[in-house]
Order: sequence, then C-alpha cells, then structure tokens
Amino acid sequence: MSPFLSTIPVAKPVLGEEEAEATRRVILSGWVTQGPEVAAFEREFAAFVGAAHACAVSNCTTALHLALMAVGVKAGDEVITVSHSFIATANAVRYCGAVPVFVDIEADGYNIDPRLIETAITPRTKAILCVHQLGMPCDLRSIVDIAKKYSIPVIEDAACATGSEILWQGGWEKIGKPHGDIACFSFHPRKVVTTGDGGMLTTANPQYDRKFRLWRQHGMSVTDAVRHGSKQVIFEDYDELGYNYRMTDLQAAVGRVQLRRLPELIAQRRQLASQYCEGLSTIQGLSMPTEPHWARSNWQSFCVRLSDEIDQRAVMQALLDQGISTRRGVMNIHLEGAYSGQNSHRAATSLTRSVSAQQQTIILPLYAQMTEVDIERVIEALRQAVADAGRVVRQPEQAVIPA
Ligand SMILES: *Cc1c(COP(=O)(O)O)cnc(C)c1O
Repeated sequence: MSPFLSTIPVAKPVLGEEEAEATRRVILSGWVTQGPEVAAFEREFAAFVGAAHACAVSNCTTALHLALMAVGVKAGDEVITVSHSFIATANAVRYCGAVPVFVDIEADGYNIDPRLIETAITPRTKAILCVHQLGMPCDLRSIVDIAKKYSIPVIEDAACATGSEILWQGGWEKIGKPHGDIACFSFHPRKVVTTGDGGMLTTANPQYDRKFRLWRQHGMSVTDAVRHGSKQVIFEDYDELGYNYRMTDLQAAVGRVQLRRLPELIAQRRQLASQYCEGLSTIQGLSMPTEPHWARSNWQSFCVRLSDEIDQRAVMQALLDQGISTRRGVMNIHLEGAYSGQNSHRAATSLTRSVSAQQQTIILPLYAQMTEVDIERVIEALRQAVADAGRVVRQPEQAVIPA
C-alpha cells in the first residue's frame, strides 16, 4: 500500500472528552458500580426507545441469558433462532440448558425468514429469539403474529440495533420498545454506541424487570442502594440462584454521553450508507443491502454481497493491500466446533442461505468519522478488486458449500 494513504478500519467508536469527563466525575464520586449513574442511564435509555422498563447489565450475552430465563426457558426446552448470527445468540440458549433450533434467513437479507418459523415449532418451543442483524430490523410484524398464534414469547437480540426503527401501526418506533416481550442491547465497541462492554434489557413487563434486577445482582433481595440509604439495619436474603451481571457506574456514565450522541451518529451513518449505495450500485457482480420500507437501519454494519463466481477472500485481500479493513459477513453458528456435539443445536430447515451469505458477503468500513473521501476510496478500491477477482474463475471445489 502507498505510504501516503492512511488505513481505514472497519469500525471505530466515537469517544471523546465528554466521555472522559463523565468517568472522572464517577471516579471522584466514590460510587463506582450499579449506583446513580446506572439508574440514570436506565431511565434515559428507556425514554429513548420508549420502553416502560430498562435494566442495565454487563453485556448483551448476559442480557440474553436473563431474558431467556425470565420467559421460563429451562433445560431440554427449544428456542427458535438463526444460525446466521454472532455465536452469543445461541450460546445464551445453551446457558439455560436449552437447544437452539435454527431456521434459515431470508433470500434477500440477513434476518430470520418468518415463513420458516412455524415448521420449527414443537411442544418444547419456549421462545423465539429473533435477531436484528447488523442493525437492520427483522420482520417483527410477521414474527409477533406467529408467536401470538402459538402463545410463544419473543425475545429480540437487538445487540446491533440501538437506535434502529420500525414502522409499527402507522408510526415509526425505536427497536426495543419492545415489540416482542424483551429486547437485549449491546454496548460493545463494535456496536453503534459503546460503554466498553455493557448491555441493556427493555420490557413492558414489570415482573420480568423485577427478575432481571434480582438475578443480575446475585439474587440479592435488597439492593446496595437501599441498604446504603437505610436508617435501619437490614439483612438481605438470597432465595434464588443469581449471577453477577452488573454494569459499573463508569460504564453507565459513558453510556449516557453516548446516548446523547446517538441521533447524530445515526444520521451520519445513514448518510454514509447512502453514499455507498449510490457509488457501489454501478459495480457489476456486487449487490447492496436492502432496507424494507418499514425499517430504518442504524447501519451498524454495511454488508455487500458478491456474485457466486467472485472469490470473497481475494476481494478482501485486495482491499487490505490498499489499507482498507473489511470483515466477512455474519458467521454461521452451526458450522463452529462448539456446535458439533449432539444436542448442541437442531436445524429445523435447510441453512443454505445462511451459509452462502457467509461465503459471499463482505462488511465494509463504516463509522461516523469517515469522510466522503474515505468512502470514495473504498468504492474505487472495491470496484477494482471485484473487477480483478471476476477475471479469476473460482475452482469448483472452492464453491462447494459445507454440509
Ligand atoms: C455483539 C452481539 C452479541 C453479543 O454482545 P456482547 O455485548 O458482546 O455480549 C449478541 N448478539 C449479536 C447479534 C451481536 O452482534
């Protein structure tokens, strides 16, 4: 690569003086975990997404675990979800001793195909765990209708979807209101807003919210804040098995600043995504992600698809040689070693769309600090890489899809 060109990473968090100042304030306050900053972050997040309750936890994986427990998922139960997701989606099901039941994704996107859900339902199905993959809302309308018909709770893995929106009964609503029973968010640095690590559960159900608060803090019946503020001696009880899934006040203070930045961050990301769509649309052999008319993505990731004959790895390498980082598309959980064992999962449908999406997609750099010049550079490098890779015909054995 030319020494004059800076490298373009695939993602970059927006963190500045305000976040640094917020953590300083917390440190000097002397109260550093699950205190007033966490409570304030929860209130502000709930208001932002329009939820009745928001409960902060250590990350989205622990949020998913608590959500599944709250709706009663137990050992031997089944949870319908996708293999085409980050591994944490299915891992959380297995933490409950339950079996992830995989269905395929849509032909023209990276979310669960709602038409496949009914075939996967059995008497042991205890939840549908749908994912808003890469920040793009999944077809919640169809999913919630099926779930209602069978009285199955819906949990939304909204790890990537903070600030994404869905058209619901004629109006735009934030993901996490929630439209299912519980939504789970991530604040890992790879997501749109970050607290280092962190997660949030939102729900309209006060019983669920009460359980989250109990379980995230060792099952302790009286919180630290209540004991601290009490004029009387209080002894706490531990009636249920709990966990340590707390968020610290340092994280929450950062989260509050990030939440204030979020509308602008999303506006910038949507602008950059539309520049990509326009510039890349003329490239033969490349297709753009599509946004349904009822969805507004936060574009946590911008994922393009190569036509079958183009070698994904060659294109990614050519971009890296130009100093441009990319990632291959979303993984397939069922192809990983951790999912090779008996009872590790069940595939309820063919997963060929999930597998081909992994093999033919590339996630392009997208972060708020990117300039139009950066985007132009990615577009031109990709145009060249696809043209070059298109000249090399892939060997047949490379095109074989693993079983
Ligand atoms: C990132 C991610 C998770 C895990 O989030 P953590 O906060 O890292 O635990 C879960 N599901 C999906 C779809 C993700 O992208």
